[in-house]
Amino acid sequence: MSMAVYNPFENARAQFDKVAEQLNLDSGTRELLRTPMKEFHFTIPVKMDNGSTKVFQAYRIKHNDALGPAKGGIRFHPHETADTVRALATWMTWKCAVVDIPLGGGKGGVVCNPPDLSQGEQERLCRGYIRRLFSQVGPNIDVPAPDVMSNAQHMLWMLDEYETIAGGHYPGVITGKPVGLGGSLGRTEATGYGVVYTLEALLKAKKLAPEATTASIQGFGNVAEYAARLYTEMGGKVIAVSCWNQAAQKAYTFKKSGGCNIEQLVSIKDSFGSIETEKAKALGYEVLDGDAWLTQEVDILIPAALENQITPAVFGKISKKVSVICEGANGPTTPDCDPLIAEAGISLIPDFLCNAGGVTCSYFEQVQCNMNYFWSKEEVLDKLKFTMNKAFDSVYELSLSQKLNMRDAAYQISIKRVANAVKLRGWVS
Ligand code: NAD
Repeated sequence: MSMAVYNPFENARAQFDKVAEQLNLDSGTRELLRTPMKEFHFTIPVKMDNGSTKVFQAYRIKHNDALGPAKGGIRFHPHETADTVRALATWMTWKCAVVDIPLGGGKGGVVCNPPDLSQGEQERLCRGYIRRLFSQVGPNIDVPAPDVMSNAQHMLWMLDEYETIAGGHYPGVITGKPVGLGGSLGRTEATGYGVVYTLEALLKAKKLAPEATTASIQGFGNVAEYAARLYTEMGGKVIAVSCWNQAAQKAYTFKKSGGCNIEQLVSIKDSFGSIETEKAKALGYEVLDGDAWLTQEVDILIPAALENQITPAVFGKISKKVSVICEGANGPTTPDCDPLIAEAGISLIPDFLCNAGGVTCSYFEQVQCNMNYFWSKEEVLDKLKFTMNKAFDSVYELSLSQKLNMRDAAYQISIKRVANAVKLRGWVS
């Protein structure tokens, strides 16, 4: 039997089409909302340290801006494709809508592998990205942010390039900037913490004490690290985490049955979220295959790396003990696996709700930049928790009252909000 090949954009469309049908959405709105509004495909020539020039393929895609300026990260990844960016831009529209912030959906990507680039090459790549896109991004047009393998330093180079061309200060053009240079306290933690705020609310609804639960996590980057930190602070035990190993070109899972020491694992990972294998072994961790995170006997699975990880082909390997899946990553579950998850009685918190903490805090960052007045970390995190809980409660209540899974309930809320905006703007009759 050949393995199914999943295309994230087809997945995003399949999820949308299913709920558009449930909502009996008219055909014009359906066509508009299943297609990105604007796409930029461009190349960035970068002068490399050895004197050669390398040309990188790049994308910026605006899915929909009916609710406000497009918002979404820029992913640096060797396997980036136009369809991945289209999917991520589409999910951004639903993400902003579900947490009810006045932003639309966009996403960017560059086909590159930052660990192979020097700091100078990365800086020239970031500046080149903005030079190519200058007229198409802006605080009121489209606002980028970090994503996989892009970070605060990359955002600051991009901001600096934008401001150099524009000849003024426009801190609202990019979020995820360093604190002290227009960044918001709490942004680093926001996505991972947001994942755990939704998990905490679900556990409460299921009358489960976090201290009595265990979890296994895919990824140990920005999202996974802070999810792991807050979850363990709440008393939960992380049994395993997995991450990509650049040298071996494969993923490994690091396991400690008694519970991982997150602080210790953070101290032996690099800036791209890869844990050093030998050091982990020396600290008593079992080093297993990359997909072993999925087969652990835990209550909670947190996929927080990449898309298409939970498929029907691997579903049978998931322990019967698992009762919750928190989608920290974007698109980690394929649409054909959702029915299996529902049949197994697993509660799944869908990606665009579960990981919306990042964009919510990015929105707070823009608000603070506009005021030129910055809140304390406590204030940011309080507002974040309030927003995440409110969004979770509406989705959870709808899922109970309409007997829907949480993904479909979240889609119903988001699609209705965006469909209403395009109708009121007169884009559809
Ligand atoms: P990151 O680059 O900081 O970390 C990615 C992690 O995934 C690393 O630990 C890497 O080693 C691991 N990884 C990569 N390939 C893997 C594989 N095959 N198996 C196991 N681990 C693997 O990225 P991030 O910002 O943490 O993003 C993770 C996911 O969360 C992505 O889907 C991203 O789109 C999504 N997301 C991120 C944010 C954010 O604010 N950073 C917000 C919303 C959603």
